[in-house]
Amino acid sequence: MSKFTPAYHGALKMEDTSKFKFTPASNAGHPGPLGIQKGDKKFTPSIRGMEGRSHLNHDGYSLTWWKDNSFFKHDAMLVSAYYGMKMAWNFREKYRIPRKDFVFVADSGGFQALTQGVREEPINILKWQERNADIGFMLDIPPLDPVSLGPVNDFDFFKKCADQSHRNCDIMTRNRENEEFKFYGVLQGSKEKELDYWYKGLEEFDLDGMSLSHKPPNDPMQIALLGAYAKSKGIKNIHVLLGTGFETTPIIIYESRYFDFLTFDSSSYGVGAQLMKYNIPNSKNAIHFGRKYDGKTKELPCNCPVCSVITIEDLQKGGSVPGALMSLHNLYIYIQRVEYLKTIEDAEEFMTYAKQTHSKKTIRALEFLRHFEEHGFEAAYRRYFRKGRKLSEAFR
Ligand SMILES: [Zn+2]
Repeated sequence: MSKFTPAYHGALKMEDTSKFKFTPASNAGHPGPLGIQKGDKKFTPSIRGMEGRSHLNHDGYSLTWWKDNSFFKHDAMLVSAYYGMKMAWNFREKYRIPRKDFVFVADSGGFQALTQGVREEPINILKWQERNADIGFMLDIPPLDPVSLGPVNDFDFFKKCADQSHRNCDIMTRNRENEEFKFYGVLQGSKEKELDYWYKGLEEFDLDGMSLSHKPPNDPMQIALLGAYAKSKGIKNIHVLLGTGFETTPIIIYESRYFDFLTFDSSSYGVGAQLMKYNIPNSKNAIHFGRKYDGKTKELPCNCPVCSVITIEDLQKGGSVPGALMSLHNLYIYIQRVEYLKTIEDAEEFMTYAKQTHSKKTIRALEFLRHFEEHGFEAAYRRYFRKGRKLSEAFR
């Protein structure tokens, strides 16, 4: 038996704890299309696999985050057009995803086309995006080895992927019809030379923003590099693709100050459904339920809107409900973390926070961004990314 007895010193201000609470992002009262104002940022959870559960309920609660009877509401999502097209042409209506005060982002599915070897016509993708989404991305050809999915150290191959991507972007921009719909390019590359080549081919098109595709996606230095690059080119709106690892989220939130509107996505909360992995709040650890459950956990270590309704037994039942419940819990605690990071506005304070809880690489990525802010892209790139730097450091 243990009991937590909080000390009361009279000086404790309850409002100080308010920033740890979940406050659903809302566009209410904000001006402009999609309600965007400078520095706005939005987490757009990738819906993959969740749409199939949108008709399921638990205790009267919908297993989504966008219906009136959801456990909690969140006002954004990302769908890959590649999957969405297979599910329904009228995807947004079919899954009753709101049109108002909600941001629906549609990735093109270039990565899926690469991994599954299926080619979808750029025009079809655009039409599905315009039909369903608020923001859609061009169909890019990722410069990756189709077998290992790793980067290919071959600039000629990189250029071929870029050229084909530019042709797709040309086709898509020429066929745009929906004026409300925002169309973003996709930027690939992990070195300045690659970024310059890829970006130059996109400059001639009328784009509303740029989706940044990092390789590898969980590298804080790459997130920082492409963010600084986009800022140096004067891009106003960006999306960060698949950048929601523990170490990368702070970099995304930090660099959102450079843009009018930043969105970023993750499907990692979905491991709840796939691996029955329940993330423990404020920790990098997880509990396994399903077949791997060791029986040691007697109570759920969380009081989020999902966990305050369900029990461990609910997570041990068969069918797809337990996985969906766990995913929603994982999603909620991720959103809470994002909301917390959003409250740290001061750059110094952000650095202090990162030093307490994050890896050297994340801190270095922040240092790169600070250097970029003071000295510009070229100087920061030279100092943090050129090979010569490492050599000189070795002789210090
Ligand atoms: Zn929970």
